[in-house]
Amino acid sequence: MKRPDQSRGVIHKLLSSGSRPAKDRWQRVFGGGDPFFTHAGASGEMLIARIRVMLVLVVLCIPGYNYFRNPTAPEHLAGMMIGAWALALALVVLILVRKQVLGAWIGLASSMMDVTLVSAALATFLFLDMPHLSLHNFVVFEAYFLALIATCLRYDVKLCVIAGSLAILEYAGILLVADARFNLQAASFGAGRLGLFDWHIQLGRLLMLAAATGLAAVVVDKSRALRRLSTIDRLTGVLNRGSFDERLNAELSRARRQDESLAIVMMDVDHFKKFNDDLGHAAGDAALRSVTRVITSEIRRSDILARYGGEEFVLIMPSTSCEQAIRKVEAIREKLARHNIPLPRTDGLTARLTMSAGVSIFPDDGVTADELVDGADERLFEAKNMGRNRVVGPAVRSRLRTA
Ligand code: GH3
Ligand code: MG
Ligand code: MG
Repeated sequence: MKRPDQSRGVIHKLLSSGSRPAKDRWQRVFGGGDPFFTHAGASGEMLIARIRVMLVLVVLCIPGYNYFRNPTAPEHLAGMMIGAWALALALVVLILVRKQVLGAWIGLASSMMDVTLVSAALATFLFLDMPHLSLHNFVVFEAYFLALIATCLRYDVKLCVIAGSLAILEYAGILLVADARFNLQAASFGAGRLGLFDWHIQLGRLLMLAAATGLAAVVVDKSRALRRLSTIDRLTGVLNRGSFDERLNAELSRARRQDESLAIVMMDVDHFKKFNDDLGHAAGDAALRSVTRVITSEIRRSDILARYGGEEFVLIMPSTSCEQAIRKVEAIREKLARHNIPLPRTDGLTARLTMSAGVSIFPDDGVTADELVDGADERLFEAKNMGRNRVVGPAVRSRLRTA
């Protein structure tokens, strides 16, 4: 009798790991919109933009040296011009990334640009009637691999596959045009230091691009898994404190640049020790997961929730005024107070919890991360002292509402 797995084929086996169905894995690898990686991709993009400028400057040394040695050779002039264009483009992209002009599209646009820049450099030699420099180039062609490695810093498997496929298609296009326009096997072609034209070598180059694309995709998939482990809290699935610190600094820089307000909210579950003592640690863990779900259900996609420690959560609300923040946290507080938390290993028993919160606002309550967190923490302490189950914000430093 056939075992079920044997009928599923090679692709399923390649995609599935352990009991995870292939569909889930496909979705995890290629599905977009994961907020955990939006920030990682954006900071990777900034790194790539800086590296791009430095790399172009380094690579420019080669045509630069050749040009000053022999300025009359057309290939040296072409090399210099291509390098100068690449440098100008790299500087423009650096400015665009800094200003965050293209938003989420910058990753796709710049990874396609990097690959196309390499192809454009190779195609330029072709149109200058120098096919040997185009197809036997040992500096420009390798830049495809640099572009593919850089794509890994964007933490997006789709972008690796798109960039790699584009490199293969564009280089294949250059090969076909070269073959149609020139007699590549002619004795005059490649008779110099660049070697003879050989289809096997060119096919090998395309295969190396395909292999590099596959490897880049696997590297990104594995680094996503590692990054997820190092940035999220295992119990609740929200960011951990380390990533919260990182994100708060990034959001504060953005708020400063765009001259916007930002709210920080510290939330702490009330009498949680008693809850744990009365109902057990497993019920406490389940309750923390429920609290997380209640908070997450009320906040925007752009808000950043982290577990600050124990039963304490912190929320960053970008582009949010004091009134908006307090209104939102009040809604969360009310929803939690009404929420029936299912208790594990009981026959449908539920329990209820409340929380207290303190809100601080950038720039009114402080301009640094420490000042804002301390401000929110002080107000949380105030909320606890006033009897718990309430929100204390900057405008109203007194009881706002009690359930
Ligand atoms: P308050 O209203 O003043 O905040 O009182 P509290 O009891 O909530 O605060 P306290 O700091 O005295 O106790 C916090 C408790 O949270 C102690 C600890 O057992 C529990 N706790 C912290 N982390 C976890 C966790 O990961 N799982 C569970 N089940 N309990 C946790
Ligand atoms: Mg507590
Ligand atoms: Mg606490």
